[in-house]
Amino acid sequence: MKAKKIVALVAAAAMVLSMAACGSADSSSSDAKDGSAAAETTKSSDSDTLVMATNATFPPYEYVDGEDYKGIDIEIAQAIADAMGKKLEVDDIDFDSIIPAITTGKADMSLAGMTVTDERKQNVDFSDTYATGVQVIIVPEDSDITGPDDLADKMIGVQQGTTGHIYCSDTPENGGFGEDHVTAYPNGASAIQALQTGKVDAVVIDNEPAKAFVAENPGLKILDTEYVTEDYAIAVKKGNTELLDQINETLAKLKADGTLQSIIDKYIKAE
Ligand code: GLN
Repeated sequence: MKAKKIVALVAAAAMVLSMAACGSADSSSSDAKDGSAAAETTKSSDSDTLVMATNATFPPYEYVDGEDYKGIDIEIAQAIADAMGKKLEVDDIDFDSIIPAITTGKADMSLAGMTVTDERKQNVDFSDTYATGVQVIIVPEDSDITGPDDLADKMIGVQQGTTGHIYCSDTPENGGFGEDHVTAYPNGASAIQALQTGKVDAVVIDNEPAKAFVAENPGLKILDTEYVTEDYAIAVKKGNTELLDQINETLAKLKADGTLQSIIDKYIKAE
């Protein structure tokens, strides 16, 4: 029931948002998917466009709704672009292409429900955190899996390159299940499809997209046990302190005046 309410809320928020100025699929690099022109353009910080790399299959943080990109991250990115007097461009690419897009300068920043990890910190700089994510386990309603301990001999579906993928593939001594027990999919939707067709026994994914996927796919449930809790932040190219300062300044403002909370509340119902 909880999940159903989330979907209703997302739909309602989507309606409100469609009337407001937000990232539009039209005005963004819709050709990014085929890796053409947009991907070759090197964006510089003095351009009048701020390019956000994301993977828009991660509701309610980022998703495609008709012609538009919507979600919490899109709104935060828009606020940052507004504060800088720039136009926001959304570069919608695979999750595991996002950090390379930042390191090569094809995108200025990433907002992708991206978890801060020590390994990623070696390649990009992260802003202050703006949200918390929890890795949860989705199983079919009639599954006998009740928590992480039951996953040892099962096949687990994850999204390629995500923290869920990294944790689950780790060795049992490190809290994982071993690579042989993990199948990585390009995005959450295809992992969920694999779960529904019995190719995997469980999916490990962030809690908010998990709620959205379960709401859309009857016969699935989210287990109560939380696997890992983590922080989301915005990534920029290493050493781009000018942009990072601007981002942190805007985040601080959005936090202080309640805008960040109201953006989150639009998409996520309080438990
Ligand atoms: N929070 C997870 C990560 O950073 C998943 C993010 C995503 O799939 N967009 O790896």
